[in-house]
Amino acid sequence: MASSTIPYGKQQITEDDIQAVVASLQSDFLTQGPMVNEFEEAFARYVGARYAVAVANGTAALHLSTMALNVKPGQRVITSPITFAASANCVLYCGGDVDFADIDPKTYCLDLNRVEDLLKKNPKKYSGIIPVDYAGHPIQADAFRALADRYGLWIIEDACHAPGASFLDAQKTVQRSGNGKYSELSIFSFHPVKHIASGEGGMITTNDQKLYQRMQKLRTHGITKDPAQMARNDGGWFMEMQELGYNYRIPDMLCALGNSQLKRAEANFKRRQEIAKRYDHELKDLPVVLPYTAPDSVHAFHLYVIQTAQRRELYDFLKTKNIYAQVHYIPVHQHPYYVERYGKQQFELSDAFYNQCLSIPMYHSMSDEEQTRVVGSLKEFFAR
Ligand SMILES: *Cc1c(COP(=O)(O)O)cnc(C)c1O
Repeated sequence: MASSTIPYGKQQITEDDIQAVVASLQSDFLTQGPMVNEFEEAFARYVGARYAVAVANGTAALHLSTMALNVKPGQRVITSPITFAASANCVLYCGGDVDFADIDPKTYCLDLNRVEDLLKKNPKKYSGIIPVDYAGHPIQADAFRALADRYGLWIIEDACHAPGASFLDAQKTVQRSGNGKYSELSIFSFHPVKHIASGEGGMITTNDQKLYQRMQKLRTHGITKDPAQMARNDGGWFMEMQELGYNYRIPDMLCALGNSQLKRAEANFKRRQEIAKRYDHELKDLPVVLPYTAPDSVHAFHLYVIQTAQRRELYDFLKTKNIYAQVHYIPVHQHPYYVERYGKQQFELSDAFYNQCLSIPMYHSMSDEEQTRVVGSLKEFFAR
């Protein structure tokens, strides 16, 4: 009998999720109903931020963030090569440009020291930093904050991989990724492979009320209907378009799904820890580099990334076993668009990491049997 397919990641939809969406469909709101607010408030509570703005997807969250921080042509922003292209693209959407800095060889997140090298060389060149909690490993956000403050920069934390992750700051306080304490804005995605799935969906969290209000407006064309914010008021129908925004709204039924999923986030987070622990144990004698977690940090394990010199062969071998591993990521600077825009660039650690990395299956609904199959196939490959 052919064995079922095991992907690197996937969503889990429960009966509760289905009921939540059905209830939303039976309500008066297909888009912009009460579930949007409910999801925003519950999500803000989950990560420990004051405000949250739900949007169409994670990329829209990044774009609204660069808009709200006034990225303009001529400005430059630093990000990691090892991320999804959207972390860099959002700067280009606003006419700005991106400089990459290499990754930390252990956490694979943007290396604070490499960022500092760029800033020292050109203290006035940059406007902001977009660090990424790669694979779910939290960035040391307080250290990024201290550096950003020395150079007058803002921070957008791309926390798509890290809802629930945490680290210990210099005051020995536990801080959740995306809680708004050390970054102006943090963004999340609810794409099906992420921890919380709504189909398409995204969230921006912040502790800054002005940025919060501005993003609410930019999400819907730059229009406000709040009389307190309008210059004039012709009557009950009146609204003002005050700046150029977009339609980045997320429908009520998707927020109903996201909100229902969020109720299981804590349990799913624990399940990912469990799966990671078993991988750590079962793969420890194989000739692969296993994921690292910094002391006092809690890794969210969106991905479980191993490194092997035989990456290509292993990828192909797993595929013959119906196990679909994936590579995260092709470094952004290697994509043809970026090569054309900035020329051929090299980042030693990012390029080396890309040549060896492989994300093996990691999703909270993975069964013990499925994991046994993955582990068995890995052992079989390296025993050949
Ligand atoms: C998924 C992801 C995004 C984009 O999110 P979408 O909802 O797919 O637009 C951005 N950055 C990172 C790191 C991601 O993993």
